Amino acid sequence: MNALSDDELSHQTVVFKERLSQGESLEDILPEAYAAICEADYRILGQFPYDVQVLGAIALHQGMLAEMNTGEGKTLSATMPLYLNALSGKSTILVTTNEYLALRDAQEMGKVYRFMGLSVAAGVKERAGDRITNEEKKKIYAADIVYTTHSSLGFDYLLNNLVTSASDQYLRDFYYVIIDEADSVLLDSAQTPLVISGSPRVQSNLYELADFFVTTLISGRDYEKEEDKVWLTQEGIQYAERFFQIDNFYDEAYFEINRHVILALRAHTLFQMEKEYMITSNGELQLLDGGSGRMMPGVKLRGGQHQALEAKEKLTISQESRSVASITFQNFFQLFPKMAGMSGTIADAADELLDVYHTEVVVIPPNCPVQRVDLADYYYRDAWHQFSAAMATAVITHQTGQPVLIVVATIPETELVSRRLVQAKIPHNVLNANNAFWEAEIIKEAGQKNAMTVATAMAGRGTDIKLGEGVKELGGLAVIGIGRMVNTRQERQARGRAGRQGDPGSSRFFVSLQDMVVEKNGPSRLEKYVQGKKNLRNIHLKKMINTAQKTGEELAVLSRRQAMEYDQVLHRQRELMYATRNRLLDGGGMEKERLMEIARENIQNFLAAQPELDTGMLNRYLLDQISSRLDRAGVEIIQKDKDSIEKYLMGRVEESLQEQEEKTGEMMHRFMGIAALKAIDEAWVEQVDYLQQMQAAVSGRTMAQRNPVFEFQKDGFAAFQKMKRTIMSNIMRNILLSDVYTDEKGQLHILLP
Ligand code: ADP
Ligand code: MG
Repeated sequence: MNALSDDELSHQTVVFKERLSQGESLEDILPEAYAAICEADYRILGQFPYDVQVLGAIALHQGMLAEMNTGEGKTLSATMPLYLNALSGKSTILVTTNEYLALRDAQEMGKVYRFMGLSVAAGVKERAGDRITNEEKKKIYAADIVYTTHSSLGFDYLLNNLVTSASDQYLRDFYYVIIDEADSVLLDSAQTPLVISGSPRVQSNLYELADFFVTTLISGRDYEKEEDKVWLTQEGIQYAERFFQIDNFYDEAYFEINRHVILALRAHTLFQMEKEYMITSNGELQLLDGGSGRMMPGVKLRGGQHQALEAKEKLTISQESRSVASITFQNFFQLFPKMAGMSGTIADAADELLDVYHTEVVVIPPNCPVQRVDLADYYYRDAWHQFSAAMATAVITHQTGQPVLIVVATIPETELVSRRLVQAKIPHNVLNANNAFWEAEIIKEAGQKNAMTVATAMAGRGTDIKLGEGVKELGGLAVIGIGRMVNTRQERQARGRAGRQGDPGSSRFFVSLQDMVVEKNGPSRLEKYVQGKKNLRNIHLKKMINTAQKTGEELAVLSRRQAMEYDQVLHRQRELMYATRNRLLDGGGMEKERLMEIARENIQNFLAAQPELDTGMLNRYLLDQISSRLDRAGVEIIQKDKDSIEKYLMGRVEESLQEQEEKTGEMMHRFMGIAALKAIDEAWVEQVDYLQQMQAAVSGRTMAQRNPVFEFQKDGFAAFQKMKRTIMSNIMRNILLSDVYTDEKGQLHILLP
């Protein structure tokens, strides 16, 4: 490839495509395609991929999760598999954690693909608040290679399945995806599903009542709590039945009471002010990110949990809106026939990823041996000693001119550290703005001489810290971690900030019993140890802190798994519904014969449900389902047997259908398709919303050996059967009873009943 001229090199794309069309596989052409793109990388960007980057690139093509250290050049690595897979002509996408990175990489790497004759696009908006129209999306997703974020892509998927005409769809069939910072996307985002909200639901007045009820409960007697689960005991249930004057707390008729009680109970026992949420100065409830303590503006808990918290805090209860569509990232990425990922810290979670995504992790060696020295942790009983020691180390290191990066677990701690630095008169930068662009700009500079930077573990991820002049000689970047992080991945992420590409560097963590993970997952009566009232050998101190982190990680694995099991129920139904919708959208619409079948079943169900049929009922059914007109025959037929009634009603169905056909003419097929689509959407939106609410409700059924996921599956299936019947009935009604006409331009107008 090196011997080719620029034109000859870029012409290889045509040659490869030709070879593919003649039956060669991607694997067959991989060596040559990779060689071509490596050469292009060099000519366009001045960077020739190292052998280890090629190794990583092969793993990515094979659908693996490649662990490559920070700074190893994953962005460049990805150009190889993206190019190769795009040669197939199928959709090839790279997703990353934020819009800044997607834009940056699309722009930088885009030059290489364009040189090779492929198109590339970024699937994210350039400025906050911008909107991308459907027409623009069509252009974006038509590109050979798309760089975007996991949430933009996920939302686009959901929206693509809410359109009512095939011409509004913009996604191509999914084929290949590479997930950058894969652990962040696949693990850390796994519990916050994407939700599209629709119209507000009728406001419930049960929140306050349920909240009051819960404040009268006694822990241990009326309810029990274990880790992140809470449920009513037998006694608690009996009390609830007396309180709400109902005979069976679990009866379907009292679903709403049950749901609200569970929500209120969870609000009081599982959510703590300042930990999980806080109240802003204008009285709004805002969630805090468990990992970093960041506020998450605009994010609301689903299924009424947010409102239950508002009731607990005596705030104005905000509107609860319906969920129109939702999906978890676990299930979303399973939609891709080929998924690969890369990250500096993913090997820690290899087992879980194999289990959930059936994807293997492979560790790629670094290009240059790692020179960073990871020093042993320092352990403290309390935060005061911990912070003082860490700050002293930071100050001393700073005095030598060596750049220091202080990594803490939460946002409030960044401020704490910042105040101490101000006292010590050390100029510094703090990363807590929650703005990926600024974070990147700031952290880029963290490797300069005399730099002092304070950040959370995940802040500024994906940005390279290059060492300034003379810094190598001083020992490179010194990372000082304060606090045991929620998992070892975050700690490795923090350490990995130093020592890129064989640079010198160091890292050390200062941890204590008062770290958030220990308070959350550590032994009870921690206070005594912290205050030194209880003897504590060093080895025990270590064990307490490290076990707490382990416990926290295990719990996180469990709860991610559970979130997925819940969504699995929705997932199967969603796939079925989306497939049906797409069939209708693609014009493979409804046939008249099919409608007659649906009508016959509906009529038979109606008749079977009526032991005694009278004229009133029959007329009502006719008006509801078949025709806006009644006739004499209907009155007379009522004396006869059910077979004759069925025949009569089917006759009326045919008659109505005939009339609709006269009104729509050639558009009949299309009209039936649209009417059916509307029936499906209406019922499906209800179903999504119902499942979401039910999820919150069943989580309170842990008691009595009930498995909530199993309960959810069972109820979810029953609800699906019910929905199917509703859809059939609505299809029939929409087709037979819609007011429909075509105007002079041949446009179809439909007024649904
Ligand atoms: P990662 O995502 O693995 O942390 P990046 O993709 O951000 O790393 O790359 C880190 C830095 O290394 C970037 O400045 C990039 O330009 C540079 N780089 C990557 N690969 C090469 C290469 N083969 N030769 C020279 N520089 C490289
Ligand atoms: Mg990167």
